[in-house]
Amino acid sequence: MRAVVDRTIAPLTTLGLGGEASEIVEASTDEDIVSCLRCWGRQSRPGVLLAGGSNVVVADAPGDTAVMLLRTRGLELRRSGDSTAVEVEAAAGESLQDVVDACLDAGLAGVECLSGIPGSVGATPMQNVGAYGQEIADVVSSVKVYDRELDTVYRMTRSDCRFGHRSSAFRGSSRWAVLAVTLCLQRSRLSDPLRYAQLAQHLGTALGDRMPLADVASAVVSLRRSKGMVLDPADPDTRSVGSFFTNPVVGAGQRERLLAAAPGVPLFGIGPGRWKASAAWLIEQAGFGRGYGPGPVRISTKHTLALTHPGGGSTEMLVALAREIRDGVLATYGILLEPEPVLIGVEL
Ligand SMILES: Cc1cc2nc3c(=O)[nH]c(=O)nc-3n(C[C@H](O)[C@H](O)[C@H](O)COP(=O)(O)OP(=O)(O)OC[C@H]3O[C@@H](n4cnc5c(N)ncnc54)[C@H](O)[C@@H]3O)c2cc1C
Repeated sequence: MRAVVDRTIAPLTTLGLGGEASEIVEASTDEDIVSCLRCWGRQSRPGVLLAGGSNVVVADAPGDTAVMLLRTRGLELRRSGDSTAVEVEAAAGESLQDVVDACLDAGLAGVECLSGIPGSVGATPMQNVGAYGQEIADVVSSVKVYDRELDTVYRMTRSDCRFGHRSSAFRGSSRWAVLAVTLCLQRSRLSDPLRYAQLAQHLGTALGDRMPLADVASAVVSLRRSKGMVLDPADPDTRSVGSFFTNPVVGAGQRERLLAAAPGVPLFGIGPGRWKASAAWLIEQAGFGRGYGPGPVRISTKHTLALTHPGGGSTEMLVALAREIRDGVLATYGILLEPEPVLIGVEL
């Protein structure tokens, strides 16, 4: 375990926001992670795990907050019992992009649509990371965790993880540290059947078709880039946490009320009596268009769901903008938008 001298959190996040931690340490082995968490437990110390910093909004003055940077490495591909299935086990600190690339190189289908998502593998179970019709829950076979309550290391099965839309057992809980994630993927030259209309259209094919893995991955990255959703130091629209708000899920009654107030709102069925409404549409129609905001913080000029920090702003300014948007949508459509990133030391 290594102590980091500069205790400023901002450079460790994709937003470039966040004040000084009381301490920052870097964990490069599972043993480091476990011993640091035991130590925080003994001291009853508030501590935060941070990996890629691409899904956190950290206060300008986070107070007595210790940070552990997860920098564990390790990636192993092994044949599973079934001849076409391959197990891919990655340490929590591995970058998701590196794992996706390794799977593409090995001709494994199941994560091609996750190309271009920043951050670590260990964080993917938190909010069941997903994009363009795939989510990590589709391919997770187990998650190796350290359980702080039981002070022990074990594996959780996919059903133990209780994955939902941008949710899981891990979200909102500090009980578990994810040490490694094991995926079960299929050997295939072709992608999974396409489930996202815009992606199929971009590839000039139909929903349900399967296309060469590399073509799908590069189409996803090109679509993401056009929306400022691929990190690019030269593009201020990518200084974000990706989508700031989740798409609200509504039941039958709320759907009727929403359609009466907003007849054009895009709704996608996600199960019996449940629909996902487009948060981007609600935000835009409530009067918050692309580029809206005071300047140092603003809505992305390419994507209404991303709140960005081009520079010179603060977390307080970003959170004030998020509140204004949330309150505007609530007043116009009666829908309460929920933030997608983890808020540390701040409230919306
Ligand atoms: C430009 C951009 C585009 C994005 N696009 C998408 C997208 O398409 N789909 C999507 O789902 N997300 C997207 N995101 C959000 C983000 O990339 C993911 O949520 C990612 O999984 C976060 O990984 P991280 O390592 O950066 O997590 P961090 O931001 O470091 O941490 C996020 C949370 O997870 C916790 N955490 C991290 N690692 C562990 C661990 N090993 N064990 C326990 N807790 C842990 C942290 O304590 C924190 O609460 C995007 C973000 C950006 C900036």
